[in-house]
Amino acid sequence: SADSLALAESLIVSIPDYPERGIVFRDITPLLADAAGLRTAIDALIAPFAGTFDVVAGVEARGFLLAGAVAITAGVGLVPVRKAGKLPRPAASVAYALEYGEATIEVHDDIAPGTRVLLVDDVLATGGTLAAAHELFAVLGQTVVGTAVLMEIAGLGGRELVSDVHAVFQG
Ligand code: AMP
Repeated sequence: SADSLALAESLIVSIPDYPERGIVFRDITPLLADAAGLRTAIDALIAPFAGTFDVVAGVEARGFLLAGAVAITAGVGLVPVRKAGKLPRPAASVAYALEYGEATIEVHDDIAPGTRVLLVDDVLATGGTLAAAHELFAVLGQTVVGTAVLMEIAGLGGRELVSDVHAVFQG
């Protein structure tokens, strides 16, 4: 309901100047800690994608927290998208630009081609991370059916890079 969504949204806390000056950090940990809030948020996260995906891919690290709940709720498997150097078996890699420097994300390359993937993360900011995750699954021949985030931060261009994004909340 609108009430339970408003309550869930109120559990995401904005922290000014964290981790550095000028950034408003969206802290989802109070939402994760609240049973009703978490249930509402996970249901809203996946509602547009019911029945359309075979696995959920969570982006390290906060995406993992949501992906586990999504997987059990939707009855699908889970694929971790990890930072470089963490996966023990052969993996696909995509490097992408950060505000300062570069990052690389990886996924094991043994997921069947054609698998329908829902991408999940907590926050869409510039969109660089989720755009790179799209590329990762495209390289492996998997189909990304959509991207789901709890919060989209408007004005940073994220939606231009990740046009299929569904955001539960706008921040
Ligand atoms: P992006 O700029 O969209 O590539 O965001 C990179 C990652 O940083 C995402 O996985 C987000 O979880 C995280 N992130 C970026 N900006 C924020 C913010 N203001 N609050 C919380 N997390 C953020």
